[in-house]
Amino acid sequence: MNAHAADSASAPVSSLPGVGPALRDSLVKLGLATLQDLWFHLPLRYEDRTRVTSIADLRVGEPAQVEGTVEAVERGFRFKPQLRVALADASQRTLVLRFFHFSRAQVDQLKIGTRLRCYGEVRHGAQGLEIVHPQYQRLAGDEPGDVEDALTPVYPTTEGVGPKRIAGVIRRALERLPGDDALELVPAPLRKGLNLASLREALLYVHRPPPDADVASLREGSHPAQQRLAFEELLSHHLSLKRLRNQVRSNTAPALSGDGRLRRALLDALPYKLTNAQKRVGREVAHDIASAEPMLRLVQGDVGSGKTVVAALAALAAVEAGCQVALMAPTELLAEQHRRTLLGWFEPLGVDVLWLAGKVQGKARAKALAAVADGAPVVVGTHALMQEGVVFRALGLAIIDEQHRFGVHQRLALRDKGREGERVPHQLVLTATPIPRTLAMTAYADLDVSAIDELPPGRTPVTTAVFGNARRAEVIERIRAACTEGRQAYWVCTLIEESEQLQAQAAEVAHVELSAALPELKVALVHGRMKPKEKTAVMDAFKAGEIAVLVATTVIEVGVDVPNASLMIIENAERLGLAQLHQLRGRVGRGAVASSCVLLYQPPLSQLARERLNVMRETNDGFRIAERDLELRGPGEMLGTRQTGRLEFRIADVQRDAALLPAVQEIGETILARHPDLAERIVARWIGAGARYAGA
Ligand code: ADP
Ligand code: MG
Repeated sequence: MNAHAADSASAPVSSLPGVGPALRDSLVKLGLATLQDLWFHLPLRYEDRTRVTSIADLRVGEPAQVEGTVEAVERGFRFKPQLRVALADASQRTLVLRFFHFSRAQVDQLKIGTRLRCYGEVRHGAQGLEIVHPQYQRLAGDEPGDVEDALTPVYPTTEGVGPKRIAGVIRRALERLPGDDALELVPAPLRKGLNLASLREALLYVHRPPPDADVASLREGSHPAQQRLAFEELLSHHLSLKRLRNQVRSNTAPALSGDGRLRRALLDALPYKLTNAQKRVGREVAHDIASAEPMLRLVQGDVGSGKTVVAALAALAAVEAGCQVALMAPTELLAEQHRRTLLGWFEPLGVDVLWLAGKVQGKARAKALAAVADGAPVVVGTHALMQEGVVFRALGLAIIDEQHRFGVHQRLALRDKGREGERVPHQLVLTATPIPRTLAMTAYADLDVSAIDELPPGRTPVTTAVFGNARRAEVIERIRAACTEGRQAYWVCTLIEESEQLQAQAAEVAHVELSAALPELKVALVHGRMKPKEKTAVMDAFKAGEIAVLVATTVIEVGVDVPNASLMIIENAERLGLAQLHQLRGRVGRGAVASSCVLLYQPPLSQLARERLNVMRETNDGFRIAERDLELRGPGEMLGTRQTGRLEFRIADVQRDAALLPAVQEIGETILARHPDLAERIVARWIGAGARYAGA
């Protein structure tokens, strides 16, 4: 980049005519400090104001620009203030403009006979077609107004900078857009063969598409100009994650290579042999943690694939090496279950398992914290493990179960608990949500991935049925039949609200209903509002077979393991996402008996809910389910990363643009290795100087 162009890229927004201190401050709040920031502030969508549509040709649901004369004005006050303006044009038809918020000045302007040009989405109103809160301008005299000569870009805005203003500022910034020589950051030899459009042309096009632009491809994001930019944006994210990982790698971790004594003892004590997949992943983990380079490994394995024992073996390797291990789970019930599994395995080996959850308070907490500080070998808990006051003596390995419930930041927070200068613990992340390839290459580029792609032998696939609520009685009969044969059932109550209280109430109601309908069976209840001791007692009784039907809230979603339970009913299944449904269903099918799952729904079903339930009926394959989930929901939600800003792209879409990913990866590696300075600038251009990754 030559000196002059470099200047214009980093020139402050205040160097543009018309940008005073107040506007500058508002722009900076939007993250727009330099001209380059403005060039890369891309439109969210476009409005077509290059033509005027006659009222007779308007179509409901579509935005349009209309020109006409005000024929009638009506102000209503009955329930809330309202202004209705009837507009007519040469097609002799009328369109109602409806305002719920309006000023005196507006009322004065919108007089009968005034000519208006307005824009907005057309809908059905009480008196025919209408536009609610159109954007409008008054036209002088009889002249037709000037139409725009390009599609109108709509930018993300902020308080204090309206759409027109920001568009104006960006237009002026684009006048100072340099040539490709100065703009391009991806070296020419690397771009060769990719057939990428010129960056300068691409920017000018997306900011100001010509009237004959292919609107459909622009809307889809498949236009070559958008693809050019999407490529660079994906590249920037890839580089940023790789950089993060290199940063972690530049730390050191304790080499956890013990003598294998404890691990062998555990393997000898297990009532089963590890599957080949468990062995392979176990070796990968053991190899990683034996090195002084911090491990960052994601172990993905479908529900029931046996991740716990793999984690336990890694934990014992750390203990053999004289280090501490922390295991964090997203819910108290799951953490509690892990504690008991590990206790059962580790106590006979003389290894203590300490418990630290939010409900551990007062003296018990002080005692636990003292033990952690003193070097207790294994600590199991919830996010309470990351709270202030928790100090480890020598944390060597942090294990995080069911990663999708935790954000990236929580994962990093636990790592930092064990940080001592340059020394960080190894990290092992367990998840039952398989990561489709496209995501693994972007969102998880900072992790190595191992897959337990085999279930322990002797499992029978779960059959799934989808029933409307009207067939409830039939479902209850199924429970009676299964339990009379000595099997056990779950009845899961769900609610949209995350409120534990409402969930608990729903479960209480179901508990009463089922107890009455099934008087010969023992029906019990477990929910998140119960005391840990009560929960544990119920779970123990269920495990021991003393309870036939367990009515539960989604607290049992993750990790609960009762092989004799072979029937699961999920009430209001339409309210849950695919990942959650799959997790829940994974609670059955753990033993040798044929298991089934009934998804009860409350009609009418939305299209999306119908699709989800169909996916569940069609497959048990967690990988397929995750891919469909990604298609139906989009990546941000799936990973629960919406809030972290991690996957919020300006123009790229990992799914739509998946075809670009192999090139992104390949070019990314080369740039990092040979042109670290360019990598820095690409990341800065799209992501900012680390601001969005603060804390990462
Ligand atoms: P998840 O991967 O869902 O966390 P778990 O670790 O809870 O699975 O294991 C599920 C069940 O499978 C447990 O009852 C566990 O004891 C059992 N299991 C794990 N590995 C094997 C194996 N190799 N052979 C037989 N059963 C196994
Ligand atoms: Mg598990």
